[in-house]
Amino acid sequence: MKKVVLFGIIIALFSTVSVFAIDIKKSSGNLFDKVKKASENQLKKDSNLFRIPTEGQLKAWQFITESILNNRLDNAQQMITQLSYPYELTLFTDKTTKREYVLLEENYPLQAGWGLFIFDLNTKNNLVLEIPHPVFDSNTEFQGIDAFLQTGAKAYLLAGAHRRTNDQDTPCTQPKSNDPDVNYPVSDVAHATATPFHAIHESLVKNIPNMVAVQLHGMGTRDICPNAFMSTGSKTVTTNSKRLLDCLTKNGVESEIYDGKTSCPLNALSNVQGRFSNGEKSNPCEKGVKDSPEPGGFIHIEQEGVLRKDKKSWQPVIEALKCAFPQN
Ligand SMILES: [Zn+2]
Repeated sequence: MKKVVLFGIIIALFSTVSVFAIDIKKSSGNLFDKVKKASENQLKKDSNLFRIPTEGQLKAWQFITESILNNRLDNAQQMITQLSYPYELTLFTDKTTKREYVLLEENYPLQAGWGLFIFDLNTKNNLVLEIPHPVFDSNTEFQGIDAFLQTGAKAYLLAGAHRRTNDQDTPCTQPKSNDPDVNYPVSDVAHATATPFHAIHESLVKNIPNMVAVQLHGMGTRDICPNAFMSTGSKTVTTNSKRLLDCLTKNGVESEIYDGKTSCPLNALSNVQGRFSNGEKSNPCEKGVKDSPEPGGFIHIEQEGVLRKDKKSWQPVIEALKCAFPQN
């Protein structure tokens, strides 16, 4: 009796064609309120609750991001469901801008502290706003969402955990200190690559041509630093960073940019998103960069309290962002 051997039945794990139509939830409200809720509920300092994602989970975050950017929301939703991520994907209409955004919001109470992510699929702006240290760098989360809405930026990334949520040090190369309050932990998304925040950053860089990531930080007042201190993540002053510096100056913001000679010490050389944007694609965790390629894909801004007290005080920085990175 002949045996029939059947070859070729392959079931793809993540088929690009869904058998069942997936409904994407719709909702409306104010993105500002979403950010407020996320920052009020962020994982607390020293709680050790930040969940370090696995390699596979980081890859899935990249798949989710790429799917969203290509408007394949059902694929993104399918991955979230299959991997049981504690997340809700919604098409969210913001009542102030009357625009529709894709919102990735972690369920409350937070279980992973992975962050809040917002995408505008209808904008032509290649600007991305990143807030790695909400609450700790006080008000940068609100300044950031205000900037996102006013500039018509492509995406907004908000960390879900206080930077010192976990006490374990990041494996990424950083300036080391004997003082545990100075070292960077695994929960500090600006200094750790095993975070959804960083995975999404990488995916955005890969999928958005000429993307410019602007990372908003807050610093204490120092005599040797201006109100706003910028860095490209290397000593290179790029065209984009110079344009933003000129726009900041034009809007009355006292500012400088790191060029290897400036005295303000907050130069972002160990920032892992900066390393990736500046071309260190294989190992931004352990390898720094010497230069930033033109026209410049990463800008880090440290801001003294005077620039982030309230809406009025952060508006000049937003005006500068609009001036440097107009929508069209
Ligand atoms: Zn910071």
